[in-house]
Amino acid sequence: MSELATHGEQQPGGHEPIDVLVVGGGVIGLSIAWRCAQRGLRTTLLERGKLGEGASRAAAGMLAPVSEMELGAAGRRILDLGLQAAQMWPDFASELSEATGIPSQLRADGALMIAHDRDAAEALERAIVFRAELGLEVKRLLASEARELEPALAPTVRLAASLPTEQSVDPRWLSQALADAARSAGAILLEEMGVSSLLRAGDRVGGVRLTDGSSVTASRVVVAAGAWSGTLGEVPVRPVKGQIVRLRDPGGAGLLSRVLRFEGGYLVPRGDGRYTLGATVEEQGFATSLTANAAYQLLRDASRVLPAVLELELEEITYGFRPGTPDNVPVIGNDSLKGLLWATGHYRNGILLTPVTAQLVLAALDGSPHPDDALLAPANSADRD
Ligand SMILES: Cc1cc2nc3c(=O)[nH]c(=O)nc-3n(C[C@H](O)[C@H](O)[C@H](O)COP(=O)(O)OP(=O)(O)OC[C@H]3O[C@@H](n4cnc5c(N)ncnc54)[C@H](O)[C@@H]3O)c2cc1C
Repeated sequence: MSELATHGEQQPGGHEPIDVLVVGGGVIGLSIAWRCAQRGLRTTLLERGKLGEGASRAAAGMLAPVSEMELGAAGRRILDLGLQAAQMWPDFASELSEATGIPSQLRADGALMIAHDRDAAEALERAIVFRAELGLEVKRLLASEARELEPALAPTVRLAASLPTEQSVDPRWLSQALADAARSAGAILLEEMGVSSLLRAGDRVGGVRLTDGSSVTASRVVVAAGAWSGTLGEVPVRPVKGQIVRLRDPGGAGLLSRVLRFEGGYLVPRGDGRYTLGATVEEQGFATSLTANAAYQLLRDASRVLPAVLELELEEITYGFRPGTPDNVPVIGNDSLKGLLWATGHYRNGILLTPVTAQLVLAALDGSPHPDDALLAPANSADRD
């Protein structure tokens, strides 16, 4: 490991000192590495496994601030951040695609919230009013109107709502494109490099210690270690397990063009005959089991609103650990320890929040306040609303 750069001096291996050391190679760490390298900062990212293999690989890729919104002050903060991110996504995806030559996988076909029985319809009526009162784009649809848009919907569907501004993206494309773009911009991305702790001297963090006992110094350390971030410092992040199913229509695309949200889950079309059906929400720590019951419940609930889902081929069942915080608001910005920044706790919205997180981290690194300073969540949960 000693071939890595040491802050302030040239290493024997000839590497330059590191301005920004990013811990974690999911979409959050990769996007930060990309933006830092673009800015001309000497950037190294350490990933203890393979890039993009954490929660980012399991994610469905909905960019869904309106359908995911939650109640309360914390919900409002996530909504504001999510709306800002959603606006950034078209340019972000084009820029990534241009930087890498990999065609963008962004889809902007909107989403439908579906109620399949009377209770669900009552809840959906409330959800529509709540969103409309906040000025969000939502349209109540009769079941017949929803079936005109998506003819494969079940005849038993009772009510729907259209959310035309919701988008989606293939998260595996995102990780790949971010890694390629970051490398092209000059970032060094290293796999199989686990960080065991932060190097701390007084009130400053000056690097990290690796699991093999060696250390790497850097001017700034950004921890973007997803659900594992809490192992590296005082950040209130816990794993929230999600099991998710990937399906494929051997006949190709056409069954569904919009994201479907229904009681018990969601179905995300990729536009090429592949569909992602998610997801469980389990407080199980880092349990890695895949259960028949999870697949059963997801398929059962989806088939109530889209019966043909049971005819699709099963490609994959997998899981990921969402990085959850007590109020679900991500932790993005400077720690009280100098030289340390956090970019974690994105819970269900890390794919959506990727572009805005990288922007906020760059603003924090610059020391220039972001236009919306309130979004820079302090690392200490006691300071949060
Ligand atoms: C089933 C499921 C569905 C989801 N669907 C959506 C969705 O539709 N839309 C959306 O916006 N979000 C969704 N999410 C949430 C989203 O996946 C996460 O918020 C996001 O991927 C978090 O990205 P990350 O980079 O912080 O974490 P991760 O992708 O988990 O990356 C963290 C990385 O850090 C590495 N690491 C950890 N500790 C260390 C260490 N000590 N040293 C070095 N490396 C380390 C890990 O190996 C990992 O690669 C979903 C999540 C799940 C599980």
